[in-house]
Amino acid sequence: MRSTDVVIIGAGAAGLMCAFSAAARGRQVLLIDHANKAGKKILMSGGGRCNFTNLYAEPANFLSQNPHFCKSALARYTQWDFIAMVAKHGVPYHEKKLGQLFCDNKSSDILEMLLDECRQVNVDLRLDTSVQTVEKTDAGYLLDTSMGQVACQSVVVATGGLSIPTLGATGFGYQIARQFGHEVLATRAGLVPFTITDQLKELCTELSGTSVDCLVSCNDQSFRENILFTHRGLSGPAILQISSFWHPGDAVEINLLPDHDALDWLQQQQAERPNSELKTLLGELFTKKMANLLADHWFASKPMKQYTPAELRELAEKLGAWQVVPAGTEGYRTAEVTLGGVDTREVSSKTLESLKSPGLYFVGEVLDVSGHLGGFNFQWAWASGYAAAQFV
Ligand SMILES: Cc1cc2nc3c(=O)[nH]c(=O)nc-3n(C[C@H](O)[C@H](O)[C@H](O)COP(=O)(O)OP(=O)(O)OC[C@H]3O[C@@H](n4cnc5c(N)ncnc54)[C@H](O)[C@@H]3O)c2cc1C
Repeated sequence: MRSTDVVIIGAGAAGLMCAFSAAARGRQVLLIDHANKAGKKILMSGGGRCNFTNLYAEPANFLSQNPHFCKSALARYTQWDFIAMVAKHGVPYHEKKLGQLFCDNKSSDILEMLLDECRQVNVDLRLDTSVQTVEKTDAGYLLDTSMGQVACQSVVVATGGLSIPTLGATGFGYQIARQFGHEVLATRAGLVPFTITDQLKELCTELSGTSVDCLVSCNDQSFRENILFTHRGLSGPAILQISSFWHPGDAVEINLLPDHDALDWLQQQQAERPNSELKTLLGELFTKKMANLLADHWFASKPMKQYTPAELRELAEKLGAWQVVPAGTEGYRTAEVTLGGVDTREVSSKTLESLKSPGLYFVGEVLDVSGHLGGFNFQWAWASGYAAAQFV
């Protein structure tokens, strides 16, 4: 039987950070992953350029049933700490927009940096290794793994969420949590495109590939970013953001004229350009194809002077507060995060240790903490992994 100080299950963002930070404290660390490669999501992230943090990361960017939970870890390992490591390793990066930091080259720069940190402090990384059972012992924990039995003082669960099963996602972390008496809050896909199946489907298909700047709202949350029409429905950053706040049956409000009051704008156009057709005016704001389709979808396009005040109000409602009821989401197949997870009310916000089973820790996405789109999810993985590493 092998023995070590710490076993970390999951060599993703949080597990890697936790591993080298704990080993840097002198702890002997075994990092296990069932996948054939560490950090597969890091490689896939940010369209291949890894949006590794956000300049403006703060607790308000995270969703959880317990919104205070993330504050302590985020304060002790900030975006500036991660940026300092990136700079130390000479990884070139840039701000794309809204504080989102991306690699200039490839996501593998970030993964290589993390693996390099692991190598420097002798983290024992074992890939293609599965864990069958985790049992509590007097001295700590005993794990049955495909490399034999391993005894340790601390176990860190860093198995992530359920999104993208083909990248190695499993519900194993939730299973361990339940085994040790933890509540696992209902999980669902977040940061995920919507599917549309009603009469709007045809419009989405026709406009597939078209992107437009909108203000999108649902359940008292709003995001101003692009939406993207797809063959299946709606995507793009504004849609991904709002999907985390959406529940089946909810309508999503899309303001296609975020810089104008829609009724004021229409009345002004009617007064100033009475002979112009609606689709011509919309064509100045959207692509010609989108303007034609929208105008025909809502009203047969005609010269502005022919619209009655009631019709103008109806049109303003559509342009300024278009109500769309998605059929659903694309689910874990394409979701960037899993909402819900291990209930943080039973985990210490300072140490990330289980309040039910001493020596057991949860870090990263397996917990009920999910970030907005824009580098926040990685920042939570870094911060929570680092926080636990100080105590394991
Ligand atoms: C396509 C995509 C793009 C994304 N882009 C970004 C982005 O640009 N910026 C951002 O901030 N966030 C992004 N995210 C979200 C981000 O990747 C995750 O929030 C983050 O990786 C979570 O870190 P984690 O360590 O908790 O889990 P993960 O990184 O998912 O790591 C979990 C690890 O556990 C392993 N594992 C699972 N089950 C077992 C088991 N039973 N036994 C052993 N090992 C196991 C997995 O193989 C995996 O290596 C993206 C997500 C996706 C899917």
